[in-house]
Amino acid sequence: MAKENQFVNQIADIETDFPRWYTDVVIRTKLVDYGPVKGTMVIRPYGYAIWENIQKELDARIKATGHQNAYFPLLIPYSYMTREAEHVEGFAPEVAVVTVGGGEKLAEPLVIRPTSETIFGEMYSKWLQSYRDLPILINQWANVMRWEKTTRPFLRTSEFLWQEGHTAHATEEEAMEETMKMLGVYKEFAENCLAIPVFTGRKTEKEKFAGAVATFGMEAMMHDGKSLQAGTSHYLGQNFAKAFDIQFLDKDGTHKYAYTTSWGVSTRLIGALIMAHGDARGLVLPPVVAPVQAIIVPIAAKKEGVLDAAADLKAKLVAAGVRAEMDATDNSPGWKFNEWEMKGVPVRIEIGPRDIEAGKMVLVRRDTHEKTEAPLADAADAVKKLLADVQHNLFEMAKKRKEERVVSAETMDELLKGVEGGNFVKAGWCGCRECEDKIKEQTAATARVIVEGEHAEKCVCCGKEAKQVVLFARAY
Ligand code: ZN
Repeated sequence: MAKENQFVNQIADIETDFPRWYTDVVIRTKLVDYGPVKGTMVIRPYGYAIWENIQKELDARIKATGHQNAYFPLLIPYSYMTREAEHVEGFAPEVAVVTVGGGEKLAEPLVIRPTSETIFGEMYSKWLQSYRDLPILINQWANVMRWEKTTRPFLRTSEFLWQEGHTAHATEEEAMEETMKMLGVYKEFAENCLAIPVFTGRKTEKEKFAGAVATFGMEAMMHDGKSLQAGTSHYLGQNFAKAFDIQFLDKDGTHKYAYTTSWGVSTRLIGALIMAHGDARGLVLPPVVAPVQAIIVPIAAKKEGVLDAAADLKAKLVAAGVRAEMDATDNSPGWKFNEWEMKGVPVRIEIGPRDIEAGKMVLVRRDTHEKTEAPLADAADAVKKLLADVQHNLFEMAKKRKEERVVSAETMDELLKGVEGGNFVKAGWCGCRECEDKIKEQTAATARVIVEGEHAEKCVCCGKEAKQVVLFARAY
């Protein structure tokens, strides 16, 4: 037991020191390590396998909605960044610039992409001629770089991985439809694959993407009641079309500017998974994206036939499409239980001499720690059913928290109390930037999304007439 306790002590207490719990978990479970350059992260195989599962699921959805993948260059001429005024203003403080190449000073400095609207814009202007070429629906999976001052693995790092969709359309309506369609794709993906329920909605002017007409985001509630922006979809109007001359000859014989969109999710989603589902023992991964869905731990492994039976079981599960692994190391079963629990594997299977004799196995689910038995003959079906149950239960638990922890506020005091208690707070807002700034100053909460279809009498800050209801929260 001493050894087991020692293990648990390697991660900080989730309730009293959540920030350290997070850092302990990501390092201890080998998801990431810190890169040699400050603010960079090395995504280790266990972390990268989660990203690959996210990619696989999301990529299928992006393609099913008519998009194709392509790859654009990492380096962008600096002058491109300056063509859209708001865009350069928003991104200038965090771009990394290359000024020397091959030992010589470059005639024009190059930006390492912080995002790719500009270079997509340049190429679209070249490729687009007639209305027949529209819509253009391209996505790329890539890395981007934003020089951040305060960094945390997955949540905020100088370099991160993401997908960025960039589309061009003939009309405002089509572009807006695309913006909302992709927000919907993200929401469905977050709920069904990551088991994370989200709030979606329009962002305020202050929180929108630099260069967008409107930004729509999805926000997820973390264990500590803070919000994490898990994805965004931008309606760019004709801002980039005008800056990059993205024009087409329309049916009526006149030249028109296209309407564009962009949308993205990043390796931040891994941070969201960790902080939405994790518990005192470490990671809890939803089966759909878990690198290992079922870990087989042989009991009394030295006894004849045990390892063979465990290997047979693994082969059977893998053949049935379950990502199963067997831990055949000489560590004690107790050590293995802790290790794989900390790594968040959804289902543990214990199999020992007595189980083999009785033709059964013991199943332990990570989310509730509930122990059941199932016949070995029925292994694949039993494990698959349990994985589906875990996936469903993780979503339901997150949904319950999301519903319980939303409160309303009519005064600044109530707003402060709400966010301090780990809640999202709905409050009326007059629409002015001064109040939004003041709310942040006094409560450390920011406007996450504008809530559709709800009304409030007064602005929580100035008491003037409320124009909108906003969901406020402290955010990552
Ligand atoms: Zn106000």
